[in-house]
Amino acid sequence: MVTGDSSLPPKKAIVNPKAIIHQRFGDKAHYNIEEIQESVSNGCPGLAISQKGPCLYRCCLQLPEFSVVSEIFKRKKDAMQSAAQKAVEKLSDPPVEDPSDQLVARLSYLFSNEFYSTCHPLSGHFRAALHREGCINGFVPVSLMTIYDSKVANLCKSIKPDIESKPLEVMLMIMDAATRLSDTVFASKELLSLRRTSPYPPEVLQSVEVSCKQETYVKVIRVPCLTEKIIEPLTLDVSSNNYYMDAIARELGAADASKVLLSRCIGKASSETRLYFHAPKSFQLDVMSEREVKDHQAYLNARASYLSGQDIYGDAILATIGYMWKSCDLFHEDVSSRTYYRLLMNKVPTGIYKLSREAVLAAELPEKFGARSSWRGMLPRDILCTFCRQHRLPEPAFSSTTDGGTKDRRPSEETFKCEVKIFSKHQDLIIHCHTGESFKKQSDAIQNASLKVLSCFNNYLMKLNMSQEKWTNGNGLGLDFYPEHISKELQFFSLVHKSWPGIKANTKRLLAVNGTNQSNSELADTICSYNIDGQDSENFPSNGCLVCICYSVCLVKEGDRELIEKNDEFEFELGSEAVTPDLEAVVAQMGVGQSANFRVELPPQELIFAANGDPTRTLSLLSSGGCSLEFSTTLLLVTEPLEDRMEKALFSPSLSKQRVQYAVQHIRESCATFLVDFGCGSGSLLDSLLDYPTSLERIVGVDISYKALPRAAKTLHSKLSQNSTSPVQGSGIKSALLLEGSITTFDSRVYGCDIGTCLEVIEHMEEDEATLFGHVVLSSFCPKILIVSTPNYEYNVILQKSTPEEDTEDKNQTKPCKFRNFDHKFEWTREQFRMWASELAEKHNYSVKFSGVGGVEGVEPGFASQIAVFRRVWDLTKDGNSSDLPYKVVWDWSSDNV
Ligand code: SAH
Ligand code: MG
Repeated sequence: MVTGDSSLPPKKAIVNPKAIIHQRFGDKAHYNIEEIQESVSNGCPGLAISQKGPCLYRCCLQLPEFSVVSEIFKRKKDAMQSAAQKAVEKLSDPPVEDPSDQLVARLSYLFSNEFYSTCHPLSGHFRAALHREGCINGFVPVSLMTIYDSKVANLCKSIKPDIESKPLEVMLMIMDAATRLSDTVFASKELLSLRRTSPYPPEVLQSVEVSCKQETYVKVIRVPCLTEKIIEPLTLDVSSNNYYMDAIARELGAADASKVLLSRCIGKASSETRLYFHAPKSFQLDVMSEREVKDHQAYLNARASYLSGQDIYGDAILATIGYMWKSCDLFHEDVSSRTYYRLLMNKVPTGIYKLSREAVLAAELPEKFGARSSWRGMLPRDILCTFCRQHRLPEPAFSSTTDGGTKDRRPSEETFKCEVKIFSKHQDLIIHCHTGESFKKQSDAIQNASLKVLSCFNNYLMKLNMSQEKWTNGNGLGLDFYPEHISKELQFFSLVHKSWPGIKANTKRLLAVNGTNQSNSELADTICSYNIDGQDSENFPSNGCLVCICYSVCLVKEGDRELIEKNDEFEFELGSEAVTPDLEAVVAQMGVGQSANFRVELPPQELIFAANGDPTRTLSLLSSGGCSLEFSTTLLLVTEPLEDRMEKALFSPSLSKQRVQYAVQHIRESCATFLVDFGCGSGSLLDSLLDYPTSLERIVGVDISYKALPRAAKTLHSKLSQNSTSPVQGSGIKSALLLEGSITTFDSRVYGCDIGTCLEVIEHMEEDEATLFGHVVLSSFCPKILIVSTPNYEYNVILQKSTPEEDTEDKNQTKPCKFRNFDHKFEWTREQFRMWASELAEKHNYSVKFSGVGGVEGVEPGFASQIAVFRRVWDLTKDGNSSDLPYKVVWDWSSDNV
């Protein structure tokens, strides 16, 4: 896409084109403006941050008789004028010359002496063909004409618009045109080539002989038709006396270059990477019998067709080679199996993301888009555009709407929503994403909607065998998906990525932690061994943290190992599923400076080949069986989410410490012995409580995150074991239990505690879930006292004003997100919190008082963390003997066992 000045509408026009159209058609002229994103692709490998192009516009002008589409512009106005200009031109066009005549004229030029010496992607073939022995007339494959001469291609298209997708018909059309040049060009339908009837003049032929002989070899890949056969690297001799198309023909078992067909470019549009394949034996499809057609279909090459988006039959050769505009020399680059697998990956959303991060084995397309500042790799919108381009789908259509200054919002709280539509080549709707989620920034709305669409495609591709109904109904709110409109090629996915679907489904839970006495059988499944080394540090990551790790991945078998992938600095946001589940689970348990080693089952081979390593070594290791993949990683740095940084920087003692102290005070006053921490996360409250002398004997932590709990187990274990040998401040803890489960579900082990804490948890749930938790906890768990804290939304103005160091480089991009933490589903005002808590208290016969930490009672805008303390005003009658035990024990410690 070019927005050259040349395409700007003429400024000097006295009457502007739009005015002319208006005069003539009035309101029968409809202008539709479409927003498109020019994504500046990562030209620079290794530069992880892809650059976002400016927002561009294209305009479609519909008139009663016809419609025109403008070029692409930075301003809507220009796009409209350009469309109008095109319409004006079309209205006043002189009757055009017959395209068939033009095609004949073009062919005649191509075979002229003049054309021979130009620098043109096609003229190189004319010259190379003359190197063939005894071939002074030169013969050039017809298949090349449309590929390398866009004039020929366009003329064919204007003769028969749908011909583009039928390469054989195009060739017949060119042959027919050439027969009209019978005195200069000889067309042979059997040979599928065109040649001059008379030899080139001697001076031309001499210039050919002069060119020196140079030995040149180029690596290519054979993609066998049978998907069971593995792709095979080959070396072609393309020395200057050897026409490369002939060399390819030999590999394909074809008689000569003329029997070889070419695909369009694969991967980047500007590349010269193409698939070469044998023309069907019986070339004239129109005379092929039904039987022959059927036989032919059986040779459909799924991998090649998938890669190129067009039907390819028989074995194919993937090569980067050809003549270019800028030089008369042959351009070529080696194609390795790595290139092949990367091209494949580039067709799946998660693959595009992995490549953009140069982390094929470690990275995964995240499931959440928090803030632009913590997103790494290509942005969702750019991935979506790339995906559509890869599958030759029209650019995604984004439409965003704002909703500012409604009755209960101040104008400054303008929000944005974004809808995305993806259409098929034939303009059928494939996906319509209209979740209605609103965002403070337009770009966040667009990125989030894009990510939803990408996840949908990803899930669909990974589970192609799933029934269609499941897809149309089961996609949750605001996402309509019509897989029946997905192209045939995309449906080759399961054939091509044979072993890919399992990758995400195999999420395994890592529970064994060094130093805890938990034996764990589940660990065995994918992770063979698992080890964290190094001094434990105070600084460990929690969800929402930006972590920086270095890692390497090796293929290992007994003593043998081969390095496959390595990153010295790799940043990702914990909790957003930006890396493979195993890696994320391990990192969640590490402290800064610690290293870990673990082995996992082999991922799909194509990922290993796309990553790298020495392909022959890798192949021999893999084919010998019994390999596994070993990750070694070190946690280098943890950047806490803005919320935590603010809580530490702006409050003294830190806000979390103040919450702990608040809980300790209630424990002491009530002489509580049994405490349950609802949503304990990685155990910071339980851990800190152990530093104070209290009456507590039994503590239980419950959380839904299987990643955070092992971390809690680890810290509590070391502290409790240490306490029992040299009792710190008389800690009387007799038992400690960590349970995995949702606090909205009842479990009898948590019934009837003296004190329940639920600090900064409810805002991480949807509002209805938070209310459900309230009902469950007060009616079923029945704690004597329940302490619930949550951020006070009204306090955010203060936090935002005094935000310490926020990244200055991209000021507009990184304004703090809507809430204090991207994982927050809501943040309530004092009034909202009061309503929530009072209704619950009344319903379940509890009393409730409000307070908080950070801030001063009664002073606007209230506390930073607002707290509700519920007290049961009735006695427990039923005992907790029922045996509802939905939670899973993650760690169970008892002082008796130490
Ligand atoms: N209370 C801790 C952690 C707060 S972060 C502290 O103050 O440091 C919020 C925690 O709530 C996360 O660990 C998250 O996993 C947990 N959580 C969210 N929804 C939950 C649910 N339905 N059941 C249990 N835990 C939940
Ligand atoms: Mg929070």
